[in-house]
Amino acid sequence: SKQKEKLGVALVGLGSYSTGRLAPGLQKTEHCELRGIVTGSPHKIPKWQKQYNIPDSNVYNYENMHEVAKNDDIDIIYVVTPPGLHAKYSIIGAEAGKHVWCEKPMAMNVEECQSIIDAANKNGVSLSIGYRLQHEPNNRTIIRYGKEETYGAVQEVKSGAGYNGSHSADSWRRDPELGGGALYDMGVYPINASRYSANMEPVAVRGKQWSERDIYNEVDEFTEFELEFPDGVMAFGETSFGKSTNYLNVDCTDGWYRLQPFQTYSGVKGETSDGKELPPDPHHQQARQMDNEALAIKEGRDPIVPGEDGLRDIRIVQAIMESFQNSEARIS
Ligand code: NDP
Repeated sequence: SKQKEKLGVALVGLGSYSTGRLAPGLQKTEHCELRGIVTGSPHKIPKWQKQYNIPDSNVYNYENMHEVAKNDDIDIIYVVTPPGLHAKYSIIGAEAGKHVWCEKPMAMNVEECQSIIDAANKNGVSLSIGYRLQHEPNNRTIIRYGKEETYGAVQEVKSGAGYNGSHSADSWRRDPELGGGALYDMGVYPINASRYSANMEPVAVRGKQWSERDIYNEVDEFTEFELEFPDGVMAFGETSFGKSTNYLNVDCTDGWYRLQPFQTYSGVKGETSDGKELPPDPHHQQARQMDNEALAIKEGRDPIVPGEDGLRDIRIVQAIMESFQNSEARIS
């Protein structure tokens, strides 16, 4: 049997994130590397094979990707399709006996998330969600401050992640069936950050969703939400396709800390109430994420960002949408 220093990753869905960040990141990783592709677009294949030296035997489409079960080159299936297809392809990967990395948002609803978790457990494979910020050093510092109560107990979290853009008519980001809308696409960042900053799970959720431009008549262009945690701790979040926001502010009993920007690919930086600087990390963020999760697999440890973390966010996403009809949706 072949001695494999690095774990082999197959990217599923060769869109902008795979092309722009994950494949380049996999050229910098120590513990894993790009070995395969799964694509529904034959025209993309020659360029990817040439650029990344991928043999014919490691090229799949969505119909035959289950055959990856027979391919020892591939250890990890990384699902980077629109969210509405995450569950389908993650489950195929797990059933093929491969570890699964699944992009955010994990899936469309709690049932789909649970079905991915169940498939991973049943097949004894690792499952991680692509929340790159939980690997980013300044976000990690904030997580530690919350746990250690460095600035006292967390009292209030305010966060936003949104961009001012527009998506073409054929974009899945305008399609509710495929996981479009600002809340699924970007809102999961402030939701995830509220949870990891407070180091608690919310007991109640309220939200408001709306669109200002006609192109977003089927999905939310804007969402604002409030999460109520135990002991009256509150989180306020915002996301949008129509306004640029990028911050994470945490107020504690004895001080505060802030990241701005908090969720960019590079340049995440911040400050604290006692004058500490949290400087940008020069490392490739996705390379760091994939190396951390690959090393966890190699060492037989739990993933840094497990499937359950993605599921908890989707439960909140659903509660925000429900609270738009009711006045408040209680979760947990
Ligand atoms: P793109 O639209 O650019 O790419 C998605 C790719 O998925 C397509 O190119 C296509 O690849 C494949 N695909 C399979 N089925 C479909 C379908 N029915 N409709 C459209 N595409 C399909 O999206 P992104 O790359 O921006 O996003 C992909 C995923 O990555 C999403 O879950 C998104 O939330 C996540 N993401 C995460 C980021 C992060 O920072 N963690 C940043 C950006 C995105 P092919 O032609 O090869 O089949």
